[in-house]
Amino acid sequence: MGIREDILVYINENDNMITCDDCITRKLKLSRRQAAYQKCNELESRGLINRKTNVCSVCGKSKKCNWSKNTISNIGEKKKYLLGLKI
Ligand SMILES: [Zn+2]
Repeated sequence: MGIREDILVYINENDNMITCDDCITRKLKLSRRQAAYQKCNELESRGLINRKTNVCSVCGKSKKCNWSKNTISNIGEKKKYLLGLKI
């Protein structure tokens, strides 16, 4: 599998999380942050993930984050609030 597939699998396996590019880079041990940025943009343009500036569930910083298409149906309003989800 390539990096893009790895990211897609990671995001879908962690569909209760909203993860920024930096945390994806760290979690997947990618060599460059640029790779996460590029691949997440590709995944978003194909409509496979959601990508927007939000609060990252992992590091708590407000940055460009990625989350699964399943996330909204999987989390309740309270969780959505806890995640800082502005959608
Ligand atoms: Zn993060």
